[in-house]
Order: sequence, then structure tokens, then C-alpha cells
Amino acid sequence: MRPAIIVIDIIKDFTTGVLGSERARSIIPRVKRLLDEARGRGVPIVYVTDAHIENDREFQLWPRHAVDGTPGAEIVEELQPQQGDYHLKKPRYSAFYATGLDALLRELGVDTVILTGLVTNICVQHTAADAFFRGYKVVVVEDCVEALSDEAHREALKYMREIYGAEVVSSQELLNRLGEGP
Ligand code: ZN
Repeated sequence: MRPAIIVIDIIKDFTTGVLGSERARSIIPRVKRLLDEARGRGVPIVYVTDAHIENDREFQLWPRHAVDGTPGAEIVEELQPQQGDYHLKKPRYSAFYATGLDALLRELGVDTVILTGLVTNICVQHTAADAFFRGYKVVVVEDCVEALSDEAHREALKYMREIYGAEVVSSQELLNRLGEGP
């Protein structure tokens, strides 16, 4: 297994900004711990974040958010990318849509995506679908993703498990596994 950790939309607008919530902020320390460990183990980390144009069509469904170049589109302070990490911008829910993610993962020889970030039933779930369509094994870290309600979170985890064959694990389980080495 050659994994990469995908960090989806842990940006200011989704934590403290216009679409922010306490639920969303709650995952930050656990994601940080996971990323610190992963870097030490040489596991690639790819941030993929919303970066909308002004008047993006998505704003017909959601309040204006994550406009490219604005503070709201920035990754939260606690999880700033480090040297060697990757950062791609996305215009839609899926981290694969109109980004270079698939090409990057293939270049790195990755066969397994470990999904973290926001929110479980939208951007994480759409990314899981696109990963599955492209032949990647999908792992979702259940305490490093969150949704606007517990129900939405649980439903999405169940859906990803049943429909995309995703493995749902806790961050502690994953840390233990990474600690075992290759
Ligand atoms: Zn968006």
C-alpha cells in the first residue's frame, strides 16, 4: 500500500468564517497530529482547497465563500503546509475535479487515498467517489472529517463504506498503523 493523505477544505471560511462551525474546528488538533506523524513517515500530504471565482455558480446554493485570493480561502493557521507538502486548488466539491490530483498521485505512485477534512457528506464524499472511479483504495479517517450534523456525518461514512468500499478508521488506528512502518 502506498498511501497519501488528502486534506480537504480545512480553510478559514469552513472553520471560523461564513460556513464555519464548532464541529468543523474540532477536527483540527487530530488532523494536525496525523499530519505530523505522516510527514515523519514520508507519507505524501496533499491539501486540496476550494478556490472560487467571483460570482461562482456554487454561490447560488451556498453563501459566497472561499473566493480565490481572499483570507477565507486560506488554510487554517494550525495546519499550514510544510516543505514537501502539496497544495492544489479546486473549483467544485471533488478534490479530483479540474485539479491535477490524479496526475500527482500517479506520479507519486499512490494507490490509496486517506481522506480528512470538510465536510463528510459533501466534499469528502464526492472525493471518495472520484477516487473510487479512478481505482484508488479509499480510507476515511472518521474523527478527522466532520459535517454540519452528526446524522449527516454518520450517513456519509456509511454510504462511502457501502458504495465505494471505503475503509473507515479512527486517527488513533491509523497512527498505530503508520507507526508500524512499511
Ligand atoms: Zn465551495
